[in-house]
Amino acid sequence: MTGQAAVLHGPKDVRIEQLAPAPLPPGHVRIALEATGLCGSDLHYYADGRNGPNVVTAPLVLGHEGSGKVIEGPDELVGRRVAIEPAVSCGGCRPCRTGRYNLCLNGTCLGSPPTHGTLRGDVVMPVRNVHPVPTLGAGAAALVEPLAVGTWAVRRAGIGLGDRVLITGAGPIGQLAAVAARLAGASWIGLIDTAQARLASADGLADEYFAEPPDAVNADVLVECSGAPEAFAELGMLRPGARIALVGTPARRALSTGFLVHAQRYELDVLGCFRYGPGAFASAAALAGSGRVDLERLITASYPLTEAATALHTALTDRTQLKTLVLSSGATV
Ligand SMILES: [Zn+2]
Ligand SMILES: [Zn+2]
Repeated sequence: MTGQAAVLHGPKDVRIEQLAPAPLPPGHVRIALEATGLCGSDLHYYADGRNGPNVVTAPLVLGHEGSGKVIEGPDELVGRRVAIEPAVSCGGCRPCRTGRYNLCLNGTCLGSPPTHGTLRGDVVMPVRNVHPVPTLGAGAAALVEPLAVGTWAVRRAGIGLGDRVLITGAGPIGQLAAVAARLAGASWIGLIDTAQARLASADGLADEYFAEPPDAVNADVLVECSGAPEAFAELGMLRPGARIALVGTPARRALSTGFLVHAQRYELDVLGCFRYGPGAFASAAALAGSGRVDLERLITASYPLTEAATALHTALTDRTQLKTLVLSSGATV
């Protein structure tokens, strides 16, 4: 165990420092961190010191896609490799009490200010936030988190047997949404991205690949994972009565009146998706653990924690990277 951490002090200013160990309250575990997957939100904080409305006002450790081994806590967990569900809900607010804990009004999330994330040696989390994944390597275990985003989108959109599913955005989330949709029984999956390299990296996950929105493919569901305005412009590719799962954070100018007119006329159901709701993270851990999902195919680079700044910089500037990992305390992928 080490208190070493990669601390963001301002835009593009990451320093390796020592953090004092956190206390271990009842009902919690201490995890020696192994791997962290870098995600778009980490890169926004790194580049600009903010991610949408969330602003870094004090030094912050980034990272929310984390895995590690439990080193303190209940006997049945100590020594086990776990995927870490990074959002901690209060349990008492109305969303929590109505079973929608991902919408908690008082929640925290690793790597979102003011809560330190996983680019460090160890972390303390509630027992309910750790999911044992004994069959996975450290890298795959870290990527259970983005898989959970995909499984939640599939649940929210009610994707089931025979559905035709169109996915906009072929980054890690779009690719994992495709994997989850396939497992849920989709009969056809179309993947759209303007970057050919991204489409190529998704080879085998979809039935058809598009560099621009197709005219009419009669999709039952659109899973929007890009946030790009173009993704909201052409809804003629959906069948009347289709569902739209909004997973990517939409660009400010994304939601045109054309979108609303189309949604009204054709009774489109628009479903917001925020992180992962009840059961989705556990499902993702179970699916990954079963060996039916290849998460390691997403990993394109890995760096030790001491080189976290290089990892963040590379992930930000090299668009050929899919998923960059940071490895804590001598761990391997
Ligand atoms: Zn993420
Ligand atoms: Zn709550």
